[in-house]
Amino acid sequence: MALFTVFGSPIAHSLSPQIHLEFADQFGLINEYHRSLSSPGRFAADVAYFFRYGGSGANVTVPFKQHAYQLVTHTTLRARQAGAVNTLMGLGSGQVLGDNTDGLGLVADLGWQLAQADAGNLSGKSILLLGAGGAARGVIGPLLDGGVAKLTVANRTEAKAAQLVARFDHQNLHYCAMNKLPAADIIIQATSVALQQQTLVLPADLAAQALLCYDMSYGATPTRFLQWAGENGCANCHDGFGMLVEQAALSFALWHDGLLPDSRAVIKKLLERSTN
Ligand code: NDP
Repeated sequence: MALFTVFGSPIAHSLSPQIHLEFADQFGLINEYHRSLSSPGRFAADVAYFFRYGGSGANVTVPFKQHAYQLVTHTTLRARQAGAVNTLMGLGSGQVLGDNTDGLGLVADLGWQLAQADAGNLSGKSILLLGAGGAARGVIGPLLDGGVAKLTVANRTEAKAAQLVARFDHQNLHYCAMNKLPAADIIIQATSVALQQQTLVLPADLAAQALLCYDMSYGATPTRFLQWAGENGCANCHDGFGMLVEQAALSFALWHDGLLPDSRAVIKKLLERSTN
């Protein structure tokens, strides 16, 4: 039996264990998948301990993705591009590979949602990305690869958005201050405000002009960002549950020699379960 976990703080809300057990079930595998509450001071030791004592792979969530990138001994190209890691795989002898599947997970779910709304694909769209933390870092490369016409990053600490944009150095990538947000086809909420029970204060007309609003956060009820978007006239509002399952599927494939689970089947099953 292989052992997996997800490191985060907080971590009790994480749905990763259910998702990964559904994936394992699709292939008749019996895996164990736990939640591991960590802290900035303990994170490195917690990861080392997990792999020393039999762990096969781990996910990393808020706020450790950039810390995880510093810790690993090997990285994939997409992790290097992001400078953040959401997936760890033990390579033996204390060696750990870091990957980042967030971006492709987001692109897969956005593509699905755009198709459902009969709104084409990412190519040529303008995007406003709110946040410049570990999650935002992971999605910039795949969004640009998806052909977006303009991607603007806005962050509470503007200097971090500026640094992130400079890191990619791409003509379609820009940053702006939180009080100068441009209209965009797609607005993506990638801050951790929801975990602190806080709300972003945003101009109402941005929602009305957007084709789609997407919150990387997710929960049993619509997030405050999605409430804001819906109340102010955006017709397509989606939380990050689909992204969560899509990025998890890519982590699973990394850990299981390329076995790619049917993520849409798991999204449907878990959504049905949560509404019954
Ligand atoms: P980080 O801790 O790395 O980054 C947090 C970000 O939120 C920073 O940009 C920070 O800005 C901003 N922020 C925090 N508090 C506030 C506030 N009160 N007002 C405005 N901005 C604020 O977190 P991650 O990037 O790893 O995660 C962000 C969110 O995305 C989390 O809710 C996480 O659960 C979600 N997520 C969902 C995924 C999915 O699959 N659906 C995958 C990955 C993440 P500053 O730089 O100024 O501190």
